Amino acid sequence: MLDILAFGAHPDDVEIGIGGTLAYHGDKGYRCGIVDLTGGERATNGTPHIRAQEGKEAAEVLGAKFRECAGLPDAFLRSDREALETVVEIIRKYAPQAVLCPYPEDRHPDHEHAGRLVREACHLSGLKKFPAGGTPYRPTQIYYYFLSKMEKPQLVVDISDYASQKWRAIACHQSQFQLPREVSMETMVNSPLFIRFICGRDQYFGSLVGVQYGEGLISQEMIKVKDLLKLGG
Ligand SMILES: [Zn+2]
Repeated sequence: MLDILAFGAHPDDVEIGIGGTLAYHGDKGYRCGIVDLTGGERATNGTPHIRAQEGKEAAEVLGAKFRECAGLPDAFLRSDREALETVVEIIRKYAPQAVLCPYPEDRHPDHEHAGRLVREACHLSGLKKFPAGGTPYRPTQIYYYFLSKMEKPQLVVDISDYASQKWRAIACHQSQFQLPREVSMETMVNSPLFIRFICGRDQYFGSLVGVQYGEGLISQEMIKVKDLLKLGG
């Protein structure tokens, strides 16, 4: 069983959205894994092979136990039968207590579909008669993280001590963020402003709870708590 399974639509989503959260929990001994729903094969820059290598290096920086690609089609991510069966089998295989996935309102349609797909799959995974491999299993916590749009979060994870790990993990994705301009096409994410936007966003989330850097999360499910004093630690 896994403690946290983080899904991204593309191979750098998890780092951008909740890289610090994964680094924190990995450091504390929790077992975290990453699944990229697509290989990012339709990105303007990079190739699936290069991106897989970059993603592997980034996962190591974050202390994740594994990173794998679900092989769903980039730019055509949908919550259809094939995708649901694929994601359900992944959830059943790893049986994570908590699942993290992109907030389903975003500039990029794949991010929106990824959030809906993963949440639906978390529910369907618990159905005995759902036609997918593995033993029925339903995660107890599902959280959305933010990519290009954000809302007021319900929870903020204090990542102040892990922000540098997050920036190092993002920097592993050289094909997306760092290639020299003469060999790469200019995109929103390889603009020098992009990392500053992420940094500013994480500082804003941190400011909501009085720390330097934070990552915001939203849950559509009711969060069960017995011991109120274990929150906020
Ligand atoms: Zn993405």
